[in-house]
Amino acid sequence: MRVQIYGAGIGGSYLFMLLRDHAEVGVKEISKAVDCRCAWGIAYKQAKELYNLVGIEFDDYVLSKPKLAIANGIEMKNKNIVTFDRKKLLSDLWQEIEFKDVEADIQVDATGTSRALLPNIEMDSIYFTVQSIEKHDFDENIYAYGRRTGYAWAFPLGDKRWHIGAGDLNYERAAELVEEMRKFYGFSYSEKSCYCKAKIRMLPPSKCKPIVYKNIFGVGEAIGCVSGFGEGNAPSLECAKILADCINNSELEEYEKRVLKNFKWIEVEHEFVRDLQRNKKLSALLKLPKIALIERKRSATVNFSVTSLIRSLR
Ligand SMILES: Cc1cc2nc3c(=O)[nH]c(=O)nc-3n(C[C@H](O)[C@H](O)[C@H](O)COP(=O)(O)OP(=O)(O)OC[C@H]3O[C@@H](n4cnc5c(N)ncnc54)[C@H](O)[C@@H]3O)c2cc1C
Repeated sequence: MRVQIYGAGIGGSYLFMLLRDHAEVGVKEISKAVDCRCAWGIAYKQAKELYNLVGIEFDDYVLSKPKLAIANGIEMKNKNIVTFDRKKLLSDLWQEIEFKDVEADIQVDATGTSRALLPNIEMDSIYFTVQSIEKHDFDENIYAYGRRTGYAWAFPLGDKRWHIGAGDLNYERAAELVEEMRKFYGFSYSEKSCYCKAKIRMLPPSKCKPIVYKNIFGVGEAIGCVSGFGEGNAPSLECAKILADCINNSELEEYEKRVLKNFKWIEVEHEFVRDLQRNKKLSALLKLPKIALIERKRSATVNFSVTSLIRSLR
């Protein structure tokens, strides 16, 4: 099998590593340098297991293991989210990758929000993010501050460095949300060592069809492997693993079905977030037990006080 991967982000670069001993693989990447626009949070257990399969010791890249995840002041025990040096990990992988053209049997669209190869999504939903790296002397927890249309975050990167950012319907609203979070938690202004704007796809895989088109297979954010709360790193790795298994076992016809089955939890999270955005708070509250179950496995222990957070969302 000859495979051409487009996009050497977290999904594409991992797919290359999974396939390189089994197929002829080439990667095409539009950027000269690794795209580091992400808060660098990831589900630890999943990342460790998946990177272990390609001989990467994920612990070498972990920056911080926050104890608490705090949303609008409500404290939850963080069970599984760590921050990692995503830029270094991808830069190390780029040393291994063969950036070349291959006369391919299949092409992979791992181009994230660009979705450069697959046909456009009819009702796409793209949110806008702003983010900076700043120094703060705060306890290393994950801080979030949400409203119905988006949320701001502060992710510890170790050595007093923090990713401070937000995502919302447009860049102005995202920047405004960052300011609200600063006031709420007391993250005062500090010198920024880095600032970026980016986009994130807010649709689950079932709404990102086609997932497969002719000989093009979508992976990662290109096909909506991002949770309703913006978690796309581990899902993109998981998605790449599903495609690699299908390629290696000659089961490509199973790919779309497996993606949809594996990411049912993402569908549930998006429904929950949509309820909040449309101010259907009762409907959101009814979904809370399911969300708590998902989050308990993936990230934090959602406790009862989250119901008051949902009721109070503006
Ligand atoms: C500000 C921000 C913060 C985030 N924070 C988190 C977080 O803390 N935790 C988490 O889990 N998720 C987070 N996410 C989401 C997560 O970063 C993405 O979902 C994830 O990176 C998607 O992986 P991917 O491999 O599908 O795409 P990407 O990692 O975006 O990679 C796509 C690659 O394709 C390349 N490309 C684009 N167009 C072309 C083209 N035409 N040809 C060739 N190459 C192309 C790009 O340059 C890029 O290298 C965040 C997103 C944003 C924007």
